[in-house]
Amino acid sequence: MANSSRHVNSVSVVLASKPTPRQAQDVALLSNDGAEIDFCYRLRRSAKRKTLEIRVSDGQVTVAAPTLAPLKSIDAFVQSRRHWVLSKLCEQRSALNVIQARGFEAGAQWPYCGEMLTLAIECEPQKKVGSGVIREGSTLHIYLSGRSQKPHDEQVVDRLTQWYKQEASVVLAEKSRDMAHRLGLASILGNIKIRQTKTRWGHCTSKGDLQFNWLIMLAPEPVIDYLVAHEVCHLRHFNHSRAFWTLVESVCPEFRQHRQWLKLHGPGLRIQVPAR
Ligand SMILES: [Zn+2]
Repeated sequence: MANSSRHVNSVSVVLASKPTPRQAQDVALLSNDGAEIDFCYRLRRSAKRKTLEIRVSDGQVTVAAPTLAPLKSIDAFVQSRRHWVLSKLCEQRSALNVIQARGFEAGAQWPYCGEMLTLAIECEPQKKVGSGVIREGSTLHIYLSGRSQKPHDEQVVDRLTQWYKQEASVVLAEKSRDMAHRLGLASILGNIKIRQTKTRWGHCTSKGDLQFNWLIMLAPEPVIDYLVAHEVCHLRHFNHSRAFWTLVESVCPEFRQHRQWLKLHGPGLRIQVPAR
């Protein structure tokens, strides 16, 4: 999160740490199901190059451009190719990503904070069981209502969503408080809120409130810890300056790797019924 309103402060689109001679631009796109997918492209300028060229490999977008090509025309070029870029990215990311393919039947496995939980589907007893989900070790019992008109998968999605949100609010608040304490920032840490936003994983307000996208709970725990460290470090540095990244690195030495993981796999962290 930065203090300029034009700055894109989603962690998922945090750019390469060395901006020169490479530069990157953020582009937001809509995928087929209407969900927003962010990508940033790496700009490589070369004096020898006469034309613009866009490449997508390993889930990353690179634009090669002549040294003097104006950013405006490079941006327009990327926009004009966005459907092609998106289809390539989706193809590559889904190949790289196993999370999207998870099912909603008994035995399906769902990641939770670095663990794998196996779904057990049960009929809701006469007396309602809280949110309809009970965790027992690595089993997640999902209680479905026999009276609901909703299809099976949608009921499971509802229950899972509610459960992940509840867990996220407890776990992320605890992790944020621990991290703030570790950095001596506990006194300026405000409220911790759980949201689902299309473009941001986390957000820090000028009041010291932190917001997190609960879907981060589907990521490995070191990635969750990186996100928490990132937002808590904004309590001291309200920008993405060198000093900010140095502070992040002091508590999360592998942050580059986790940031990269989030860029690559973030779009696949979802709980939704596949389109029929
Ligand atoms: Zn940030």
